[in-house]
Amino acid sequence: MSYRGRFAPSPTGPLHFGSLVSALASWLDARAHGGTWLVRVEDIDGPRTVPGADLDILATLERFGFHADEPPVWQSARIERYRTALDALIAAGHVYPCGCTRKEIADSQLLTHQRNTTLIYPGTCRDGLHGKPARAWRLRVPDDTHPDKHADTHASAPAHSAVIRFDDRWQGPQSQNLATEVGDFVLLRADGQWAYQLAVVVDDAEQGITHVVRGADLLDSTARQIWLQRCLGVPTPAWLHVPVVTNADGEKLSKQTGAQALDPEHPLDALIAASRHLGLALRDPAPVTLEAFQADAIDAWQRRLAQLPAA
Ligand code: GLU
Repeated sequence: MSYRGRFAPSPTGPLHFGSLVSALASWLDARAHGGTWLVRVEDIDGPRTVPGADLDILATLERFGFHADEPPVWQSARIERYRTALDALIAAGHVYPCGCTRKEIADSQLLTHQRNTTLIYPGTCRDGLHGKPARAWRLRVPDDTHPDKHADTHASAPAHSAVIRFDDRWQGPQSQNLATEVGDFVLLRADGQWAYQLAVVVDDAEQGITHVVRGADLLDSTARQIWLQRCLGVPTPAWLHVPVVTNADGEKLSKQTGAQALDPEHPLDALIAASRHLGLALRDPAPVTLEAFQADAIDAWQRRLAQLPAA
């Protein structure tokens, strides 16, 4: 197998320390495997996309020494592929139109199970729209009552267990019950925007991604992506989720929580700090050129992976 990895930033603002950690981890893992490393701009969430942030991120990546092995791709130029995938899922009966509003779903939670902020769709439109206009398209997840719900479902063909299990290379064994923890999820939103879950699965498959390396905030999306890969009949990559960077209040670092843009004039300091966040033991004294940093960090990444409980 030839390794293909990617960094997939959403252009909602300039690259910050949190996204640098994900970029570095995905780049190091690709280089440590002698693999190919790609950059994909995830700009399909129209309302969140900031004009110019894509080019700014790409320029910063170059300044930090991350050179992609193929030209970057933009999700906004690929939407006909998401339409084709949705059409295939409609033809196979995996998806259905949903007419529920957010409020209706929120109200239904009082009757079923309440769960922090995540709304679990109760399946109201599974058997028809009940006279309501279609708003979104949802993917069916398996019923929790299926007899083989405890089965290990690593098979590539759609298995019918609601419990999805996978081994994360950093976090160890994971499992999520799609029926009780997620519910049927949206692929095409009521506002006409393609959902992240569909776009990421279609693109990872089409770009031949074999290894996904990203922040642990996306660990919770992985079971959904595995289920979608099974429904589309595409391979499931290997997963590795690195610890997220948080601010002083314990919130994930992002534009919304006040992350500062990286200083493109001083890549080395930020790269060394990002390596520390990943627990990489760099040589002493610290490297003083980007090239020396890269060679040292690739070795340190290999040693770090060997120490993980999941190794
Ligand atoms: N675009 C997503 C983000 O910036 C990352 C998607 C992924 O790596 O799967 O959070």
